[in-house]
Amino acid sequence: MAAVDHPDDLIDYEEEEETTVQAPATGANGAANGLGAKADEKDKKGSYVGIHSTGFRDFLLKPELLRAIVDCGFEHPSEVQQECIPQSILGMDVLCQAKSGMGKTAVFVLATLQQIEPIDGDVSVIILCHTRELAFQIKNEYTRFSKYLPNIRTEVFYGGVPIKQNYDILRDKEKCPHIVVGTPGRVLALIRDKALRLGTVKHFVLDECDKMLDNLSMRRDVQDIFRSTPHHKQVMMFSATLSKEVRPVCKKFMQNPLEIYVDDEAKLTLHGLQQFYTKLEEREKNRKLNDLLDTLEFNQVCIFVKSVPRANELNRILNECNFPSTCIHSQMSQDERIARYKAFKEFNQRIMVATDVFGRGIDIERVNIVINYDMPDGADSYLHRVGRAGRFGTKGLAITFVSSEDDNNVLAAVQSRFEININELPEEIDIGSYMTS
Ligand code: ADP
Repeated sequence: MAAVDHPDDLIDYEEEEETTVQAPATGANGAANGLGAKADEKDKKGSYVGIHSTGFRDFLLKPELLRAIVDCGFEHPSEVQQECIPQSILGMDVLCQAKSGMGKTAVFVLATLQQIEPIDGDVSVIILCHTRELAFQIKNEYTRFSKYLPNIRTEVFYGGVPIKQNYDILRDKEKCPHIVVGTPGRVLALIRDKALRLGTVKHFVLDECDKMLDNLSMRRDVQDIFRSTPHHKQVMMFSATLSKEVRPVCKKFMQNPLEIYVDDEAKLTLHGLQQFYTKLEEREKNRKLNDLLDTLEFNQVCIFVKSVPRANELNRILNECNFPSTCIHSQMSQDERIARYKAFKEFNQRIMVATDVFGRGIDIERVNIVINYDMPDGADSYLHRVGRAGRFGTKGLAITFVSSEDDNNVLAAVQSRFEININELPEEIDIGSYMTS
């Protein structure tokens, strides 16, 4: 079900049903690269410190990039960065599945910034992702990392914003970006209007690629955009979940890619993340949520619900109960969405009620608790949602409300697929287990 939130806009896919086919749990079968190993190193931010001797310097990046990396506070590359950056900066195609929050974004941001030779008026890099907030976030990562590369311009294009604003930028040679981040609907509209020309693209990136290719209407758009780029280019795709079914689809876009998979899905769960469920009736959810927000210590918390009306309603109730919360979903104006995303990221609010729009890719460092007020509709979606807490190896807590037989089934699927035990929520949880002091 696609929500159209602007009459002359293309489809916004974000509130669409997850149609992912769940892959059975697989054992490590040779392609696994040991991601997620070193469970004993859990809990520490930047848990790879000391394990690997490679530093960002060893990648022989431009000095301007190394300076920006230092400014960002990155000391050591994460495992996925170690695996992917060396080949990706050489222009190789990359298909990469790695845990949430382990720094996949920096792989393609650094790889493209390293290789780009900006020519004014030419778009060299295109990054597509499925939500506007994620597009906005990726654009900000480009801004951070290109701080010392003042000649490189990045722009973000997504629906819900008057398309004329995009035209104005694209028509002006002084403003036309070298790097375009966007959602497929708007990008395709700009291509069809001949405002955006991708004939000079050298790097094509899909973030949350399984989400983009599983969904047939989005896949069609991605294919159309892909076709408007030159044959010879670097293609990179990333996700925390890449089922066996979607991998061949991804590879159709690539030539001999470097493939990085966590084939043993058990390794996809985050070691610093405590996960619990609680069984209750639908009508008991609000009271339980109230109790949890009262008793748990949190920096920031994300509460996931299954529909837009429920997000609005729960947000209203929380505010009435003196829990100042905000909410985000696809049926609000684009400016409002980004404003709310920013306010939350900047810690002006501590509670976010969201639909699955916010479930993938969004990186808010201080979120240490995720509550599934409504059960997600599948194991993939569960993994993405809970991955909003415990970013980059920090600690976190995920609590899931189970109120129906269907909920039970999803919980069972999550546990068998990722080979974890999700226990019943105890009376008390040790703060130290989910909060970094
Ligand atoms: P993913 O896309 O894998 O879910 P992100 O790219 O959003 O993860 O990264 C998660 C967080 O970790 C971000 O806040 C990012 O700035 C941070 N991060 C990424 N790489 C490093 C690193 N090498 N050192 C420290 N922090 C990092």
